[in-house]
Amino acid sequence: MRKLIDGIQRFQQDVVPTEKQLFEELANGQHPVALFITCSDSRVDPNLVTQTKPGEIFVLRTAGNIVPPYDALHSGEAATIEYAVKVLKVPDIIVCGHSHCGAVAGLLKPASIETLPAVRDVLKYADKTALVMREEFGDVTEPAERLTVGVQQNVLNQIENLRTHPSVAEALDAKALEIHGWVYAFESGVVTTYDPSSKRFVDVAEGAKPAF
Ligand SMILES: [Zn+2]
Repeated sequence: MRKLIDGIQRFQQDVVPTEKQLFEELANGQHPVALFITCSDSRVDPNLVTQTKPGEIFVLRTAGNIVPPYDALHSGEAATIEYAVKVLKVPDIIVCGHSHCGAVAGLLKPASIETLPAVRDVLKYADKTALVMREEFGDVTEPAERLTVGVQQNVLNQIENLRTHPSVAEALDAKALEIHGWVYAFESGVVTTYDPSSKRFVDVAEGAKPAF
């Protein structure tokens, strides 16, 4: 705890005075440019990787960046998505998986999460990832490569879940929203985006490639 409290003191002394105007303006409201859905993993920092400041991205973090489908009612995730799309009217949603994701590793190796009933329970919303990995990527056996492909397929699976949310479906129909599938490799800083035309993940520097 000491590290965190010391950090707050440094923040109040060094950061608050220099960002005073921004923080005061944020009291008038928020206009984030995107809803950024990613994993809770401590090695992933959405503001750091996108070089954004407070107020610029609306963040939803869950184990394995899993988005329960809309029929999994009363989820906090559904409330966050609905608010971002209907009230804040974000023009983009990014579902961002990451390298070395423990949740996806658990999905690929169920024995490793046998004693974690809550994790097992939420991973049911990634059943399709597990199925695709068995049926379409059974030949990818090298563990690191299998995990990388699993992370990518899980991003696509979670985008499908995201589209079951009525607010998202309506905004997509109205062409007021784009969804992007990203994977962030924290050890290298590389971010790739799903390119629906080639069905591959390509460097995000190639530009926005909306999945829908
Ligand atoms: Zn993760």
